[in-house]
Amino acid sequence: MTKQYAEMDWHAQARALQPDGRAYVDGARQPLKMHFTKHSPLDGRLLGEVSRGGAAEIDQAVCSARRAFEDGRWSRQAPTQRKRVLQRFAELLLEAREELALLESLDMGKPLRNALQVDLPASARCLAWYGEAIDKVYGEVAPTAAHALALITREPMGVIGCVVPWNYPLIMACWKLGPALATGNSVVLKPSEKSSYTALRLAELAVEAGLPPGVLNVVPGLGHEAGEALALHPDVDAIGFTGSTRVGRCMLEYAARSNLKRVYNELGGKSAFLVFDDHADPAAAARTAAASLFFNQGESCNAPSRVMVQASIADAFTEQLVESARGFRAEHGLDWSAPMGALVDEAQLRSVEGYIAAGAHEGARLLLGGQRCQQGSGGSYMQATVFDQVHNHMRIAREEIFGPVISVLRFETEAEAVAMANDSPYGLQAAVWSHDINRAHRVSRALRAGTVHVNQYDEDDITVPFGGVKQSGNGRDKSLHALDKYTELKTTWIQIDD
Ligand code: NAD
Repeated sequence: MTKQYAEMDWHAQARALQPDGRAYVDGARQPLKMHFTKHSPLDGRLLGEVSRGGAAEIDQAVCSARRAFEDGRWSRQAPTQRKRVLQRFAELLLEAREELALLESLDMGKPLRNALQVDLPASARCLAWYGEAIDKVYGEVAPTAAHALALITREPMGVIGCVVPWNYPLIMACWKLGPALATGNSVVLKPSEKSSYTALRLAELAVEAGLPPGVLNVVPGLGHEAGEALALHPDVDAIGFTGSTRVGRCMLEYAARSNLKRVYNELGGKSAFLVFDDHADPAAAARTAAASLFFNQGESCNAPSRVMVQASIADAFTEQLVESARGFRAEHGLDWSAPMGALVDEAQLRSVEGYIAAGAHEGARLLLGGQRCQQGSGGSYMQATVFDQVHNHMRIAREEIFGPVISVLRFETEAEAVAMANDSPYGLQAAVWSHDINRAHRVSRALRAGTVHVNQYDEDDITVPFGGVKQSGNGRDKSLHALDKYTELKTTWIQIDD
C-alpha cells in the first residue's frame, strides 16, 4: 500500500479536489452567506470559500441538535445500533482516506504521508473503538438497605459543543465525536477557521453511515464569533474544547456567564524530556526527541520542547540531536518524502520567528536552523531549529512555541531536573530516560504531568487517557474515561415493599 501511495501523483489529485466549505446543519449543506477565503499554507493556492458562522448559524445548529436529542432519533437508540453506525462511520472514513488526507494536508500544511498513515487510521480507530465499547458499559446497583433499590445509570447529557484546533483537525474532532456520539448525545462541532474542510466532510460521512440528520452539525467560523456563540449558548450542556490555554480560560468565562455548562479543557503544553547519564543509549534518546518534536512541524501539544540533559552527557547528546534534526527538512507536503510540511499560516510562521529572535536575544545558543525556508513557494516553511544553553526562565522555555524549535537545558542532579521540569505553568506530558529502575519510578512519580513516558516518547493508544494537569487542562480525551465527560450520573431510588 505504501509503495502504491508513494508512486501516486498527489499533486494531480489535489488539483482535481473541490473542497466544500459550506456549513452542515440538520443533515444538509447550508447556503454560503458570510464567508472567508482559504488558501493552502503549502503553496498559497486558493482552496475556496468557507462559511463564517455567527450567532445565528450557531443557534440554528444548536436547535437542530436539541430537536434531534429530544425526539430520541439517536439518544434513545439501542447501544448496539449506535455501535453499528459508528463502525460504519469509521469504515467510510477509511474509504475516503485519500480525499481526506489531501484535504488535511492542503488545509493545514502537514505532510500528506502523515495524514494518510497516522491521522486517518487513528481517527477511524477512535470512532470504531467507541462504537465497540458502548454496548459493554454497564450501570450500577448500589449496596443499600433491603427496603429500597438504588440504580445508578449514565445518561447522555444533551447537546455537546465541540471546539477544536487546527493541528490534528480530524483526530481532535474524532476524540470528541467518538465518546460524545457513542453515549447518545447530539453535537455541534466548530472546527478551527484554519482547517475546516475535513470536519465538514466528516459530517457528511456520518449521515451516510446512518447517523440521523441533526445529530452532528458542523459550523465553521472564527473563534470570537462562532466559537464564542457556541460556548455562550444557553442550550448547550457541555463544551469539549481543545486549543490554547488562553482560549480555555475564555471557555470557563463563557460557561460562567451563560448556563454553567460543563467545560472540558484540553490545552497547551511545554513538555519536559529528561535524559540521565545512566541511560545506556543517549543517542536513541536524542533521535526520539527530534522525531517527536519535529513531527507535524512541531505543531503538537505534547511536543517535547524542553529537553533536559545531564551535564556529563550533554555535549554528545546535543551533537546527536542536531544530526537528527538535520533530517527534518521542510518540504512541500504533497511530496511523499517530505519529512516536515508547512506551518499552518504566515501568522504562525511569524510567531515562531519571534520566539527564535527572543531565544537568541536572551542568550540561548542557536545550533541549527532559525530561518524561514522554501521562500518563493507561496507557503509558510520554517527550518528545524535547535537551541542549546537554554535556561528555564527564558521565553522559549516557558511559552508554547508550536513550531519546529527544540531547546536543550542542562542539569547536574536528579532533584534539579525534577524541579526544573515541574517549574512550568503546563503539565501535559513528560519523559524520563534512565536505566536505573528506581530513578525511573521515582522521577515518573515526581513529575507533574498527565502522561509520563519512560525510555520512549510517542507510544499512544486509544485505550489510554490523554490530557494534562495545571494549565494544560482538566479533561481527558480517549479511553473509557472519556465516556464520563459526556454522560450524567443519575440515581433512581425504587421502594420495595414487603
Ligand atoms: P486556539 O485556542 O487559538 O483555537 C482553538 C479553537 O478555539 C479554534 O476552533 C478557534 O477558532 C477557537 N477559538 C479561538 N478563540 C476563541 C474564542 N475567543 N472563543 C471561542 N472559541 C475560540 O488554538 P489553536 O491555535 O487552534 O491550536 C493550538 C493549541 O491547541 C495549542 O495550544 C495546543 O497545545 C493546543 N492543543 C492541545 C491538545 C490537547 O489535547 N491538550 C491537542 C491539540 C492542540
